[in-house]
Amino acid sequence: MDKNRYNIYSKHLIEKFGHKVYKLPVNLPGTCPNRDGILGHGGCIFCDEEGSGFDALPNNITVREQLRQNKSYFQRRFNARKFIAYFQAFTNTYLPLEQFRNNMATAAQEEDIVGISVSTRPDCISDRYLDVLSGAAEKHALDINIELGLQTVNYRTLQIINRGHTLAEFLDAVHRVHRRGFEICVHLILNLPWDDMDDVIENAKVLSALGVRYVKLHSLYVVSGTPLGDMYRRGEFTIVPLEDYVRRIITFLEYLDPSIVIQRLVGKGPREKVLFCNWDVSWWKIKTELERLLEEENTWQGKKYDYLNGKALKW
Ligand code: SF4
Repeated sequence: MDKNRYNIYSKHLIEKFGHKVYKLPVNLPGTCPNRDGILGHGGCIFCDEEGSGFDALPNNITVREQLRQNKSYFQRRFNARKFIAYFQAFTNTYLPLEQFRNNMATAAQEEDIVGISVSTRPDCISDRYLDVLSGAAEKHALDINIELGLQTVNYRTLQIINRGHTLAEFLDAVHRVHRRGFEICVHLILNLPWDDMDDVIENAKVLSALGVRYVKLHSLYVVSGTPLGDMYRRGEFTIVPLEDYVRRIITFLEYLDPSIVIQRLVGKGPREKVLFCNWDVSWWKIKTELERLLEEENTWQGKKYDYLNGKALKW
């Protein structure tokens, strides 16, 4: 076994592009159908007003300026040379088509951009928006990646967290994106209080069966002013203990196709109005502990990846 016990994103980028590549976050003012009334008003029960893009420049700065400011920071700090434009907050394909087209064109024309990553909801992927990305990919030889927030494959939990879509919309989006030859990154929360270890394993199995390329894990954080924050104050759910969460991640990795790249093993939380985040332990410590346990238990990503391609066949 190679000393990496899971498929590390930074190493994957070097293998893929031949050098280090940095993501330039772009934060756009926007909303999402789960907040503006099309599907619902409250949004996902954990969603704060930042639209899950809290680690970026203010959203009133133009796309070009955000790309340039972030680029110059990475160039100064890390001597970075190549970049991926990362449209991260809210639901980027929920913008009007022309605005989306302009944003993609701005990113595609920026110097030293090798790829575009677009974060969105599974029910906000349509062929018309994918046409825009196909055009940009062809014209500028760009690597396109779609990040889909899913959180869990358990469609009953999806109802509880008020995602506004079920598993079916996710499956449809994955097939549509794959038909374009683009890669997919899926966001999951492995400590949703309504999910158990069977759900964690099913998450790994479904993503493996679908052939997604990347996974981003995040623990559930609770922010004041959200429906989840209210439920937390009323004691309506119990947070999974950290030891169990770590066990969930290890089990998830064991069942996951070893070729899937882990873009994020442990996430950071928002800085303000936080009621609960990462058990008050730094994300870095949780990551180090996970890596130590993988080593100690001599286990690795894909150790239990033996369930596809006719597992039950006898002959
Ligand atoms: S899909 Fe994203 S932006 Fe929309 S409500 Fe859920 S977390 Fe918030």
